[in-house]
Amino acid sequence: MKNKTDSPTPATELRRQAEGIARGKAAQPTANLSPEQVQRAFHELRVHQIELEMQNDELRRVQTDLETSRARYFDLYDLAPVGYLSLGEQGMIQEANIAAATLLGVSRRTLIMQPFSRFILPEDQDIFYRHRKLLFATATPQVFDLRLDKNDAAPFPAQLMMAVTSDTDGIPMCLTVVSDITERKNNEERLSQAAAVFENTREGVMITDAGQTVLRVNRAFTAITGYTETEVLGKKPSLLSSGHHDPGFYADLWAVVDATGHWQGEIWNRRKDGEIYPQLLSISAVRDATGLVTDYVSVFTDITQIKASEDRLDFLAHHDALTGLPNRLLLFYRLEHDISVARREGMKLALLLLDLDRFKDVNDGHGHLAGDELLQQVAERLSVRLRDADTVSRLGGDEFALILADLTHCQDAAKVAGEIIDAFNEPWRLHNGAEVSIGASIGISLFPENGQNPEELLQQADVAMYQAKNEGRGKFKYFSEDMTQAARARIGLETRLRRAMASDKLCVHYQPQIDMASGRMVGAEALVRWQDPDEGLIPPGRFIPLAEQTGLIVAIGKWVLREVCRQGRQWLDAGLPPLNLAVNLSPHQLRHSDMGATLAQILDETGFPPERLELELTESALMERGLESARILDELRALGVRLALDDFGTGYSSLAYLKRFPLDVLKIDKSFIDDIPFHQDDMDIASAIIAMGHILRLKVTAEGVETVEQFEFLKAQGFDSYQGYFNSHPMPAEAFAALLLKQIEKIILKV
Ligand code: C2E
Ligand code: MG
Ligand code: MG
Repeated sequence: MKNKTDSPTPATELRRQAEGIARGKAAQPTANLSPEQVQRAFHELRVHQIELEMQNDELRRVQTDLETSRARYFDLYDLAPVGYLSLGEQGMIQEANIAAATLLGVSRRTLIMQPFSRFILPEDQDIFYRHRKLLFATATPQVFDLRLDKNDAAPFPAQLMMAVTSDTDGIPMCLTVVSDITERKNNEERLSQAAAVFENTREGVMITDAGQTVLRVNRAFTAITGYTETEVLGKKPSLLSSGHHDPGFYADLWAVVDATGHWQGEIWNRRKDGEIYPQLLSISAVRDATGLVTDYVSVFTDITQIKASEDRLDFLAHHDALTGLPNRLLLFYRLEHDISVARREGMKLALLLLDLDRFKDVNDGHGHLAGDELLQQVAERLSVRLRDADTVSRLGGDEFALILADLTHCQDAAKVAGEIIDAFNEPWRLHNGAEVSIGASIGISLFPENGQNPEELLQQADVAMYQAKNEGRGKFKYFSEDMTQAARARIGLETRLRRAMASDKLCVHYQPQIDMASGRMVGAEALVRWQDPDEGLIPPGRFIPLAEQTGLIVAIGKWVLREVCRQGRQWLDAGLPPLNLAVNLSPHQLRHSDMGATLAQILDETGFPPERLELELTESALMERGLESARILDELRALGVRLALDDFGTGYSSLAYLKRFPLDVLKIDKSFIDDIPFHQDDMDIASAIIAMGHILRLKVTAEGVETVEQFEFLKAQGFDSYQGYFNSHPMPAEAFAALLLKQIEKIILKV
């Protein structure tokens, strides 16, 4: 382009004229120009014209660009996802895009020149005016939330961004961007609700990452476990483990979570203070869009209280409210259980049904409260009497039932029944000082004899109990009459035996033991007898088994041992020749008493020489305790006494334990002797035993030798000694001493 300050050239002159023409002035002739000048001027004009045309083209192109971008701007403006509004100084809407119109639910046309405040909820108008004032005062853009009315629809939350500018005339305007924030508000609300639930719920919540590191816990977690958030963050949940569950339990739990995404169940955990408590726990796996576990959420409730009430309910369902004893339901469960155990172990079991005698009199005479109190006392007396394995239950009214489990002997049930009846005959003192007397009638049924299930046993016990009542109360009855008789006889016998012991009614008889070769008396077996004032002499076969079952044998055995040692010492002191005295020991004595100490004490007390004392034990007593028996025998033998195996051949007759135990004498049982010389088998066995005994360096003796044939046979076989009616019956001490004296006289006479 040419510089406009250049000195006028023909072309500029022409252009000036041309512009004059363009402005309507007529062109002045150029008479004073030469043709070359005109020619050049035209050329310049032409060039100028081309330049102008080029500029025009440029202008048009710029204008088109401008229009295109303006159109694009309006498109953007109109179609923007947020509303744009231009508000005049008075708050009138001057411009609005389509989004703004859509947001406010009106057409763009109706928006123009409306006050914007018309669309603001009355309650939120203040917010708007406050910010607008600030905006104009400070020219700082304002961003704030308020609620806008939408034509024909519910108001919605909006965010407004306002900035100030001025229009072409310099008048200030407010540019406003309106966004619908319904979704954001909803999200915020949801989040704040979730946070409120998280923090305020009474359930403990623990969030861990996929590697089970604790990320977050809530307040309830702290309240339940005692651990604060800082104490558990970054730790593993195993911090809470109680040790109640084995690793298999947790492995199963996590296998379920892995497979199903969820686990729910009861679990025992430990609080920070060490207390172990039950919780109901549910664990959920949180997965991302690809299905990968990102977190685990554990929600739990402390169910200590629930458990306690469950236990309480369970107790109430199975117990009698008045006495606290198991009720009929629980009795049946226990009975079922005890029957199955007894069946498996081959044991017996008794069910005792007890009905109070004269209870009605107490109820009628002293009132129901007294009756209740008495029932409680009855429950107490019954419970005290029983072992842990037994069950006492109240069936209702004045009826009680007892299960005696682990019964070795059927008749033991009668013993318990007898004791209960005796205990109930004692007077009962009530709270108010009144003394009342009641009693008990008891029916007994036995497993397996009388029934195979709880129903049958209860029925039979019931029948037995009614018979007991009919017999005149204060009695027990078995379901079977024979059993009742036997049991009563047994109880009678036991009572008398106790009395006999207390009043020195036991005595010892002695049966001589004869040396085969010399025919001389070398010893005696001491055999206990009971001198009953009514029945006369009662043999041990009738009372030793009972004494075994009741444990009385320990006292009896000790008495016999002391009596024999005392007697033996006395005979020695009287100048009688030394003899071996054999005393029987019962299995019970080996089992339940400190035999070694007892024996040592008796030997010490009496001064009887231990080498003259022989203790007889049976095979079963030794087998019962195995190695323990060997230890006890060693202990006894260490005191200097001799040991004999009694009744050999009736039990296991095992060579192995003959070797194992430190024995001196083998006593072959009478049953082998009985059929000599008629049974070849018995004779062969007797021969075999003697050979075997001698190989083991034992003295072999025979018992129950009654005939000369037996005697001859045994002598021929090489038996060392014998005892039996062939020589002498057992006899009282005085008779025995006399016999011994006679033998001495014979010897002296012979000499
Ligand atoms: P045992 O130890 O085998 O005693 C031998 C038994 O056979 C004795 O019976 C004796 O009187 C009997 N007897 C001896 N010779 C003959 C005979 O020729 N023919 C017949 N038929 N019998 C004969 P008893 O005194 O009745 O004793 C029976 C069992 O009682 C004893 O068998 C023993 O096991 C036990 N016993 C006796 N006294 C005691 C004791 O003080 N303590 C313990 N624990 N048991 C004892
Ligand atoms: Mg014996
Ligand atoms: Mg014997």
